[in-house]
Parts: sequence; C-alpha cells; structure tokens
Amino acid sequence: MSSKKLATFLAENLEDLKGKGLYNVIDPLESANGPMIIINGEELVNLSSNNYLGLATDSRLKEAATEAIQQFGVGAGAVRTINGTLKLHLELEEKLAQFKQTEAAIAYQSGFNCNMAAISGIMDKNDAILSDELNHASIIDGCRLSRAKIIRYNHSDMDDLHAKAKDATESGLYNKVMVITDGVFSMDGDIAKLPEIVQIAEEFDLITYVDDAHGSGVLGKGAGTVKHFGLSDKVDLQIGTLSKAIGVVGGYVAGKKDLIDWLKVRSRPFLFSTSLTPADVAASIRAVELLTESSELNEKLWENANYLKAGLVKLGFNIGNSETPITPCIIGEEVKTQEFSKRLYKEGVYAKSIVFPTVPKGTGRVRNMPSAAHTKEMLDQALVIYERVGKELGIITE
Ligand code: PMP
Repeated sequence: MSSKKLATFLAENLEDLKGKGLYNVIDPLESANGPMIIINGEELVNLSSNNYLGLATDSRLKEAATEAIQQFGVGAGAVRTINGTLKLHLELEEKLAQFKQTEAAIAYQSGFNCNMAAISGIMDKNDAILSDELNHASIIDGCRLSRAKIIRYNHSDMDDLHAKAKDATESGLYNKVMVITDGVFSMDGDIAKLPEIVQIAEEFDLITYVDDAHGSGVLGKGAGTVKHFGLSDKVDLQIGTLSKAIGVVGGYVAGKKDLIDWLKVRSRPFLFSTSLTPADVAASIRAVELLTESSELNEKLWENANYLKAGLVKLGFNIGNSETPITPCIIGEEVKTQEFSKRLYKEGVYAKSIVFPTVPKGTGRVRNMPSAAHTKEMLDQALVIYERVGKELGIITE
C-alpha cells in the first residue's frame, strides 16, 4: 500500500502552490525549438529559448549527430572512468579548452551537473564560498553540497564582496576561500564585474569561479565573459553549458591541467553517472568548431538583440539594465505580468513571465531571448503584438 503521509504531503503542497500561482503549467512543443514554435497547433514567435545561435536546429550539427549515432550508437554505455570515454569525448574536451584558452577541460552531462561536480569537488567543510546573491540555483546547490561556509554578497556589490573577502580570509577560520559568480545573470541580462572580482581575488588569494552559461557564445565574440574582459589567465574555473549557445546538452569546466586532472578523479558526476551520448558530443564538437571558425552567428545574435531592444524601448517598455541579448520587459506587479505573458501567447508571441520568488517582489517581467535564427520579420511580428497588448493592458501609453 502506498504511504498516506506522502499522499497528504503532496495534496497539501500542490494545492498550496496552485493557490499561490506557482504551479508550472508546461506547454509541450509540437515543433523543434527554433525561432518559431508550434504549441496547440498555433505558430508563435519564440522568445523563450536559450538557443542563442540557432544551433539546436542547425543542419551541420544534425549531420554530425546522425553520423555519430551510426558509428557509435545512441548511448555511451558506462561512466567515463569505466569505459564510457569515447575518443569523441576527449576531442570535445580538447576543443573546449582551445575555445576557452585554457590548458584543459572536462565535460559533464549538464551545466547543472558541472556546478554540483566542480564546487563540491574542490571545496569542503573547512572552506568558505563568497557567492553573489543572484547566482543560479545550480551554484547554490553545488555550494550546499560542498558543506563549505556560504557567504552571500549583495548582487555585483564590490564593496560588499571586498569586505566579506577580507573578513573571511582574516578570520583564520577557513582553509580555502572561493568567489563564485554567474558571468551573465539570467534574469536581468547584466554582466558580472569580473575585472573588480579578479582584483579582489588577487588581493585575498581567492579561488575564482565563473559560471558562463549565458556568456559563452554571446560575449567575447563567442568565447565568453572571461575572454570579453581579457581575463583568461586570471580565472581558475570557467563553467559552460552545451545546452544554450552550443545548442545541444551537457556542460564543461575549463581551467588548468591539474585542476581538470583532479576533477577527473574526484568529481562524482564524472565517476558515477553515464557520460554524454555520442550524438551530443559530436554535435557539440561541430558547434565549437563553427564558433571558432567564424563570428557570423554571434554578430547576427547581437544585431537581432539590439533590434528587438531598440523596438521595445521605442514602444515605451522598461527593459531594465540588460547588457546582453537577455531582454527583460519589466512589468512590475505579479498578476499583471502573468496576464501580459498570457495575452502575448494568445496573440502569437511565446515569452514567459518570471515573477516572485524567482525575482524580487514587484519586479515581475516577461523575459525575451532573441536569437541569431530570428529574421527581422519575426521580430517585427513580435513587436506589433507587444505594442497592441501593451496598450490594451495600459503598460505603455497610446
Ligand atoms: N548555470 C546557469 C547560470 C544557468 O543559467 C543554467 C541553465 N539555466 C545552468 C547553469 C544549468 O545548465 P544546464 O541547462 O546545462 O544544466
């Protein structure tokens, strides 16, 4: 018989979430996750995917994946350290290291896994981690898993970071101290102040850790936030995902050879979880090659992002402090934000609302993710709908 306690727990909590409007309703796609998507038979302009460069549907990646399936099958068959390492995995890691201008790299099954693996692989209960308060959930979980003391600093507040770094290092309580930040913050699209962070790290001998899930393929002509600031030799760990600009799935850590060697013997997702499939690896290799060979897709992404941003600002929307293609349309009040997103959806634009508790109360927004694959016509179509719905709901004036 199944547990009555579990049934009560689930019923009560699901009801509670639904009452608070926090129960996620998932709309399955009936098409690929490209610039236009089909949901419930309706075609919509897609402004909610992380497929920044359009590579998720690129024919060159599909070809590479198909060939790899024919040659190696659909699964890697084991964890990396048993016999789940194909030559393809090593080729991908070499290419990623070159791409990030580091000595070495290690691939994992997701970006989320990278943070669990790398943070807990290096830090332990005798250490402390200085973490930006807006860091991604996987960083927060990785920090918790490490059992290190977590010291949050105010978002991108360098005075606060400096003071907390000084306290932590001078206290004598900790062995190693790490500073950890997103390269690009996914809710507002702002960029971490890496030059200042690196300077503070040098002053207090902190380990520097940058999760560049949203910066890779986007900043530094595609090479990421660390390259954007010319700091490739100053950051100890660069984390990337293969699921956003690269268009596939998986993640990686890039850094010095000793660090990567250590993670290969100590990080648990590498040791205990089956490796990336041949198709994922081959498609990712092709994507990294494309990004290294040409900046064309990166330039198109920025052109489209600047076009959409200018269009929204001209209409009177508040796009916050975004410095990257991530374009929030800040509406404010939670119910109104959700209503706005629903109306956009009905009219033909898929742009998800993000409200408290994911973002602070009163800063609800509809987040737009333009990509290199959008055409000007698609973006214009979205802007026309934004204007109509924005006026109808009184978010912008007539
Ligand atoms: N880090 C950051 C900053 C992210 O935004 C995300 C994805 N939302 C991840 C890690 C997780 O990456 P993945 O989807 O590859 O697991």
